[in-house]
Amino acid sequence: MNEKNTIGDIIKVLEQYAPIPYQESYDNSGLQTGYASDEVKGVLLTLDCTEEVIEEAIAKGCNLVVAHHPVIFKGLKSLTGRSYVERTIIKAIQNNIAIYACHTNLDSVHNGVNAKIAEKLKLQNTHLLTSKPHTLMQLAFFVPVENTDEVLAAIHKAGAGQIGEYSDCSFQVQGTGRFLPSENADPTIGKPGKPEQVAENRVEVIFPAFKQQRIMQALMEAHPYEEVAHFLTLLENGNQEVGIGMIGELAEPMQEQEFLDYLKKHMQLSVIRYAPVGDKKIKRVAVCGGSGSFLIKDAMRQGADAYVTADVKYHEFFDAEGKLLIADIGHYESEVFTKEIFYDTISKNFANFAVYLSEVNTNPIRYT
Ligand SMILES: [Zn+2]
Repeated sequence: MNEKNTIGDIIKVLEQYAPIPYQESYDNSGLQTGYASDEVKGVLLTLDCTEEVIEEAIAKGCNLVVAHHPVIFKGLKSLTGRSYVERTIIKAIQNNIAIYACHTNLDSVHNGVNAKIAEKLKLQNTHLLTSKPHTLMQLAFFVPVENTDEVLAAIHKAGAGQIGEYSDCSFQVQGTGRFLPSENADPTIGKPGKPEQVAENRVEVIFPAFKQQRIMQALMEAHPYEEVAHFLTLLENGNQEVGIGMIGELAEPMQEQEFLDYLKKHMQLSVIRYAPVGDKKIKRVAVCGGSGSFLIKDAMRQGADAYVTADVKYHEFFDAEGKLLIADIGHYESEVFTKEIFYDTISKNFANFAVYLSEVNTNPIRYT
């Protein structure tokens, strides 16, 4: 079979994995250059998109670069080649190369950037360090008993009722629905101007808030009534699948030096900046790829012995109070394995074009 795939097909798969609505408000994930309708010839995966990476894409015959960091992050007012960002974009467009960025939405999903770090460190019993608020909704609706299954099937298909490893989750209780259709109504059950009562189920489901529109559309299309009685509520519940940072445990507690060596080995580091904790053993480890200082307090609150992150400032190391081993392993080093997530996601779903991990070291920092 020689099925052709478009760039849009790849984007769809990536966004099922890391939905765009989960990106932070300041972010700019998504397609940055190129046409989603173009056929994919080859894909190059990278942490950062630079001119060198575009050159590598040309050399490897790729017309799509998937990057973690969006090369266009702030607004561009001209494209004259004055900065590396402008030159990268110009080179990409001149060579028909699409650039797609999957950034803080991939930081926020439970199987994203931080799960990858946890995997590299072989952490066990992992869960998210924080939970992104207001990402879940509840829908309660009323449906005649005999129509319940088909309506449920339709809204499940649209994404309702998925909780962790459980799909098609709902709760229902039977009762009596009462209504009085007006003379202008066209009731499915009953007659205009005549009070009616029907054996109905009250059905409740939970779903990610960003799926609201498609679930409501599925409900309205599958429900037999002219007017569908329902309640829609934005929940305060934490979302176990969406949030930044992750925490887990090492198989065995380690002494400080042993842990630092372990970190170096598993994250392929040459250097670590850290706040020491002396004789305290390290068992619980929190992680956050990239600039993660804002989670130091969360890591402490959740009982972490060590916190692995990057871009920690001088004064922020004081916040450890000698109780938390803050390990700043470098922004690039903390996120470089993110490419593997792209690789696994794309190669699992497509087989008819080449996918490459970029060989360019885009880290702008060197150590001596
Ligand atoms: Zn980053």
